[in-house]
Amino acid sequence: MEINETVFELADDIGPEKIIHLYEPRSRMKAIVVVDNVAAGPAMGGVRMAPDVTTSEVRRLARSMTFKNAMASLPHGGGKSGIIADPNTVNREQVIRTFARGIKSLTEYIPGPDMGTDETSMAYIYDEISRAVGLPRELGGIPLDENGATAFGLAECAEVAKEFIDLDMNGARLTIEGFGNVGRPAARFFSERGANLVAVSDSKGTIYNPKGINLEELIKVKNTTGSVINYKDGEALQTTDILMISTDIFIPAARPDVITESNADVLDAKLIIEGANIPITDAAEKMLHDRGILAVPDFVANAGGVITASVEYHGGTETVAFEKIKSTISRNTKEILGNVYSEKIYPRDAAVDIAKQRVKRAMKYREWM
Ligand code: NAD
Repeated sequence: MEINETVFELADDIGPEKIIHLYEPRSRMKAIVVVDNVAAGPAMGGVRMAPDVTTSEVRRLARSMTFKNAMASLPHGGGKSGIIADPNTVNREQVIRTFARGIKSLTEYIPGPDMGTDETSMAYIYDEISRAVGLPRELGGIPLDENGATAFGLAECAEVAKEFIDLDMNGARLTIEGFGNVGRPAARFFSERGANLVAVSDSKGTIYNPKGINLEELIKVKNTTGSVINYKDGEALQTTDILMISTDIFIPAARPDVITESNADVLDAKLIIEGANIPITDAAEKMLHDRGILAVPDFVANAGGVITASVEYHGGTETVAFEKIKSTISRNTKEILGNVYSEKIYPRDAAVDIAKQRVKRAMKYREWM
């Protein structure tokens, strides 16, 4: 592997500052940590646990965190990590604790939960190195998965975005890819605002009912059987079929790169609120926008989780976190979409422009940068 190719050719005027590969020979724990930029403060970003997580994915996610934290005006830079392991591995606790010891000296990185990790994982990390966010309530945490902080932010984002495209939330068809800590509460927050949930997917398949899905029943089915696919009152389809279903609001809330240049032309939606991180490639986002489909970028829409984590880190309460999510995400969505339509630019370009300016202003205060 050529170092120049993999690291420095990808570096730009913001970062990444550090790319670290960890390997612990006894447990065979392998992990990747990327600290992208720390101008605004220690980098905050989740720990992903998946057998297929790559350096490139973690690097892109770390950049997304730099922009997300800057966009939300948090005193934090961006970072991310990935433990290369099955989240259901039998020695999960040992792997996570080993990872924690591996990042002990990396004090400019504050880990939080992400796909494959949760509050308990953060408790293990905190126990090892006294540095983690997204902790259980018993350790002073604000459990963001339990209260659906990220999903709440997505709904607030949609409230603002719908005004720009004249979309009525009442009765709007809603499709959600992924039914985990983001997708499940998103279904609830959007339904409470009048949206009609017509399709949901998870790793096992998609369930579809154009008349609407009973959310309470769906949650029960997912909890008891492990998949939405066992919901009876609907058509069972393949996982990727969710993208073929005509909808008003689509929320990707699972894996990266689900919409690419190869399938962006099949999606029939009016509004996409990016719950997942990097769910759509840059080129695909442009294709969607050119087709009149508004996609609010991930680091603008899904900041609810990290806003909560930051409030927790700085000693605030759940009420403060929710107020901050509402005010921050509404304000940012309004500003970005205002620029999109007045300057005729793509949403991501508008968002990156604002976030990058903030990062660069923060960098000016740092002598070494
Ligand atoms: P999760 O592990 O709780 O849930 C993921 C869901 O996606 C599960 O229902 C799983 O079955 C499903 N899934 C997996 N592969 C799939 C596939 N190929 N197609 C459809 N569904 C699939 O994860 P989460 O915390 O809900 O995170 C989801 C996404 O949101 C990730 O990209 C994460 O980085 C992002 N995100 C999460 C938070 C948060 O607060 N949890 C905050 C910001 C961004």
